[in-house]
Amino acid sequence: MKDVKKRIEALRREIRRHDELYYVHHAPEISDREYDRLFAELKELETEHPDLITAASPTQRVSERPVEGFGSVRHTIPMLSVDNTYNEQALREFDKRVSKGLEGAAYAYAAELKIDGLAISLRYEKGLLVRAATRGDGRTGDDVTANIRTIRAIPLDLADGPDVLEVRGEVYMPKRAFAALNTERVEAGKPEFANPRNAAAGSLKLLDARITARRKLAFFAYSLGEVSRRLAETHYESMQKLKALGLPVNEHIRPCAGIEEVIAYCRDWADRKAGLDYQIDGVVIKVDRYDQQDMLGVTGRAPRWCISYKFAAEQAETVVESIDVQVGKTGTLTPVANLRPVKLAGTTVKRASLHNFDLVAKLDVRCGDTVIIEKAGEIIPQVMAVKEKNRDLFKSRPFDVPRQCPVCGGPVKKDENGVYLRCVNLQCPAQLRERLEYFAGKGQMDIEKLGPALIDQLVSQGLVKNFADLYRLRFDQLAGLERMADKSAANVLESIERSKRRPLWRLIAGLGIRNVGGQSAQILADEFGTLEALMKAPVERLESIDQIGPVMARSLYEYLHNADTARVIEALIEAGVRPEAGQARTSDALKGLSIVVTGTLKHFTRQEIQQAIKANGGRSSSAVSQRTDLVVAGENAGSKLDKARQLGVEVIDEEAFIRRIGGGD
Ligand SMILES: [Zn+2]
Repeated sequence: MKDVKKRIEALRREIRRHDELYYVHHAPEISDREYDRLFAELKELETEHPDLITAASPTQRVSERPVEGFGSVRHTIPMLSVDNTYNEQALREFDKRVSKGLEGAAYAYAAELKIDGLAISLRYEKGLLVRAATRGDGRTGDDVTANIRTIRAIPLDLADGPDVLEVRGEVYMPKRAFAALNTERVEAGKPEFANPRNAAAGSLKLLDARITARRKLAFFAYSLGEVSRRLAETHYESMQKLKALGLPVNEHIRPCAGIEEVIAYCRDWADRKAGLDYQIDGVVIKVDRYDQQDMLGVTGRAPRWCISYKFAAEQAETVVESIDVQVGKTGTLTPVANLRPVKLAGTTVKRASLHNFDLVAKLDVRCGDTVIIEKAGEIIPQVMAVKEKNRDLFKSRPFDVPRQCPVCGGPVKKDENGVYLRCVNLQCPAQLRERLEYFAGKGQMDIEKLGPALIDQLVSQGLVKNFADLYRLRFDQLAGLERMADKSAANVLESIERSKRRPLWRLIAGLGIRNVGGQSAQILADEFGTLEALMKAPVERLESIDQIGPVMARSLYEYLHNADTARVIEALIEAGVRPEAGQARTSDALKGLSIVVTGTLKHFTRQEIQQAIKANGGRSSSAVSQRTDLVVAGENAGSKLDKARQLGVEVIDEEAFIRRIGGGD
């Protein structure tokens, strides 16, 4: 019993440490898979010994019961709003007011990125997270503790710290999670979120924390509220202390000696913000010393020692030249505006999504109209509004909602949630092209030489009608295509051949089953090991799997037991597609080796190469040291490569790595 308790505590510490490495220091030491294993062991021990469960255990992040509503929380120190400005002149005026208010004393600033999310207050008492609340009106907010607890970046307990520590910061949704969530929503027939901030806010307003937990929210701390003792004399130092306590603090916070340094920081980030994984809408500037903040005080509703500099909204105006309807891989019809090319946030935009036909009707956007476009989450261009209508009586007509699929002419149907139209013809070439492109994509079967142009030819020539047909292609068929040299045809066949032995999860993901993404595919592959076992599973068995759920289980079951798709899967197996089983170790080629990966990789994501290392008996580690046996260097490898060379550690490139684990031959 004592040993069990010790093991449980050790596991919690270990999980806590890996969370911190991942979310605070961005330097994970283990793969997701290994993390999941630690987690599963803890969960199992706790199930056997429920008396040892504590509220701060990482297994207790997600409450199984939905809340009925949100209680309200009064902020002991109000959460003030900050004055906004849009130009540098206003920053210099702010500086003059600060200088005057401090009566000539020397002062400095701290500048930090303004994350576009939702302000949250976290209250820790004796190191334990006891409450989380939204800003609300600044005095009273909503109690969102159950939802906030699901965010892995937020520690449930701190190793150290004052008796009362109220941390304030921003809950946000990383751009990648935002894009994935919207894709998922379209597939499920739900409306997309307009931007990452709305997605974050919507996720915190859910009554069911289990859904919030899947939304991949993140957090940055940016100030303190009520504290039983100050952590430091300055804001900048306090934030470093918070980081040491295990709270994520944005790494780009900078102390600035004067306002010109602040302005340089603002200009710099206006240019660089597109490269961040989260959306920012400006810079927050604070007088750094707390005693000077107190001296300056508060005016009305905003502090005199703080100001935010907002970047000009990245919008552009252009003309709609035509409106097209695209057909996605699950048959979703999406209206797309073809635009007169215009520069927006560093790229030339020619097309913008109109999302769905309800929106087209609401905006009443028509050909020839001048529209305002913006990038959602700085990634996806979208039409925000119609600025100038060109209502030429003869040319301008409201956009007609299609009654049939624009590609195959087949019937269309509103889907169950009533938001999207779908082409219901399973043989639709547009869907087929999209499905094949997805199947061959990097995250799925990774058939490098099978690009969109070739897929187009194969489909229009009738050579490929389903996934299995890819594996039946003959040299003469390919070589007979336009602009296809013999050598290229051979390369295509070779790259198709290589894909036969991809891991099972990649094949499951590649099938493009509605609601089943890469992560679910991995869970399924681990659970069933072979495609045959998965096909035999009754729907109840699928539903019972953690993280699969009834909606996905049903759509998976229906897919696998549809006569057409079942035939294609059989044909795939017949054609020699033999995916590798879920967790099986593939070789001992890297047995006992400590391996560091650095630089940009072509063939693997970070997670994939870590899995490959593990599957072949190696260990991956994040830092190069005397104990490192091997470094795999991709492009633009930096200091780790230098260090490896200094220490005389063997360095190989990705191709050599693939050869070593027995692939690519
Ligand atoms: Zn169609």
